[in-house]
Amino acid sequence: MKEVNEQTVEKKSLNFLEEIIESDLASGKCDGVLTRFPPEPNGYLHIGHAKSICLNFGLAKKYGGKTNLRFDDTNPVKEDVEYVDSIKEDIKWLGFEWAGEHYASDYFDQLYEWACQLIRKGLAYVDDQSQEEIRKNRGTVSEPGVDSPYRNRSVEENLELFQAMKDGKFKDGEKVLRAKIDMAHPNMMFRDPLMYRIVHAHHHRTGNKWCIYPMYDYAHGQSDSLEHITHSICTLEFDVHRPLYDWFIEKLGIFPSHQYEFARLNLTYTVMSKRKLLELVRNNFVSGWDDPRMPTICGIRRRGYTPESIRMFAEKVGVAKRDNVIDLSLLEWCVREDLNKRSNRYMAVLDTVRLVITNWEEGKVEECYGNVNPENPEAGKRVIPFSRELYIDRNDFMEEPPKKYFRLKPGGEVRLKYSYIIKCEEVVKDENGNIVEIRCTYDPDSKPGGEVWRTVKGNIHWVPVDRAKKIEVRLFDRLFTEPFMGSIPEGKDYKEYLNPESLVVKTAYAEPALMEDRSGIAVQFERVGYFVMDKDSTPENPVFNKTVSLKDGFVKK
Ligand code: ATP
Ligand code: MG
Repeated sequence: MKEVNEQTVEKKSLNFLEEIIESDLASGKCDGVLTRFPPEPNGYLHIGHAKSICLNFGLAKKYGGKTNLRFDDTNPVKEDVEYVDSIKEDIKWLGFEWAGEHYASDYFDQLYEWACQLIRKGLAYVDDQSQEEIRKNRGTVSEPGVDSPYRNRSVEENLELFQAMKDGKFKDGEKVLRAKIDMAHPNMMFRDPLMYRIVHAHHHRTGNKWCIYPMYDYAHGQSDSLEHITHSICTLEFDVHRPLYDWFIEKLGIFPSHQYEFARLNLTYTVMSKRKLLELVRNNFVSGWDDPRMPTICGIRRRGYTPESIRMFAEKVGVAKRDNVIDLSLLEWCVREDLNKRSNRYMAVLDTVRLVITNWEEGKVEECYGNVNPENPEAGKRVIPFSRELYIDRNDFMEEPPKKYFRLKPGGEVRLKYSYIIKCEEVVKDENGNIVEIRCTYDPDSKPGGEVWRTVKGNIHWVPVDRAKKIEVRLFDRLFTEPFMGSIPEGKDYKEYLNPESLVVKTAYAEPALMEDRSGIAVQFERVGYFVMDKDSTPENPVFNKTVSLKDGFVKK
């Protein structure tokens, strides 16, 4: 958590990206700010993407600029409209609106033409070497690479071959287009990087029009330039690509977009690559991309996180220039912080034991009143019916309690929240010695709003047996048992660390007002945690997902 504190302090001044932007605006290097968020539609967005979204949209907004959404759809084999749709939904849900909606595939004609320009300038060539040969001949960091035997083809021959590649005259992998730079360059990226490869596959937007597809390094910067992106922000691993990004733009003489890198978000107990998340889905380790244990935006949403809490998290994490790992408890802290202010309160008992008030008339029902949200007086009151038989939580009773146990115990008193003080008179057990009923008496003078207010130390929640609503609760824990401090332990597979107890399903009973809640966000089950209604709910079987507990109960091992 140290990193976070450092950054919170730093935040009061400008972060390094804000410094760059302010200096660019001051010097006239740009006269406005246009950023972009460039997802590849090959999976659902995760919390790391949320960080990038908040950053790109946040920076543009701060400086009166705009942000484009651009799908980096240059790999037809892995991409799909399902992902395009989910990405748009997630960005909107986070609370952002993009200026232009673009697709790298919209630029395929222009990119092709520019590639021909580079061929004409003698800066690109068609290579017949296999992928294997190309890799082998690239050399290593300490050894120069070997020129391809096809490197010195004439411009005419290259243009013809490139056209033939486009026209589908060759099979996948038979030829590639490469930039002609320097096979001995100290930056491996400059050793004649690939610009195009042949892929005979259906593209979700361009159909079968193309069978050659541009590589990331060639497509990305040119797409930025076409849109006149001023600040192209990406994660640190792309810093070695930056000189190549600049090289293409310079050689083509097009709008000078610039790339800047920041540290990607890593979270403890979380894997965050789309490939791994897809694997969890495909192997049914989780119920889907939106399983509430997933770090995907749709999973976190289903878990009950609010857009406000995620934006708060992105803000707190700040932007760093070196890689770090953020504690998952910071994300949990943010959602607690937000829900504490906004969520409605209800009582629900997760582990029930029956409590009978022996001096309460059979059949008599009385109304108790509770604040819907004590943090927000305008939220009003809710009615909780009180009667002779109640459920309380088993954990709120102890037959042989330690000293300073303030919940219910034989002979002891507690207040039932919003209601009377009761005293435990007798415990009824079954033949196995399990407690089946706690028999109490109530003090008729102790009702809130009465003449004298008597206090007792314990204050427990309850629901009326006959009017409580039976609900299903899904209790989630971390999906992995390992914090993965930035990486997966040597020689291990992250799947070995799946937490077998990451989902526990229980039956619980809630006060009736819960079913009338229309807040649309997670609610607080008093003394338990925050819960949100799940899409699996039916009127007969409402399902509630636990978002987070009330306090950080996580003990570091
Ligand atoms: P993954 O590695 O999870 O598959 P990706 O980088 O391939 O992600 P893209 O769709 O290419 O996913 O990413 C879109 C944008 O989101 C990129 O600008 C990328 O840098 C950014 N991004 C991805 N992961 C993170 C992360 N963990 N933290 C911050 N930004 C991220
Ligand atoms: Mg990517």
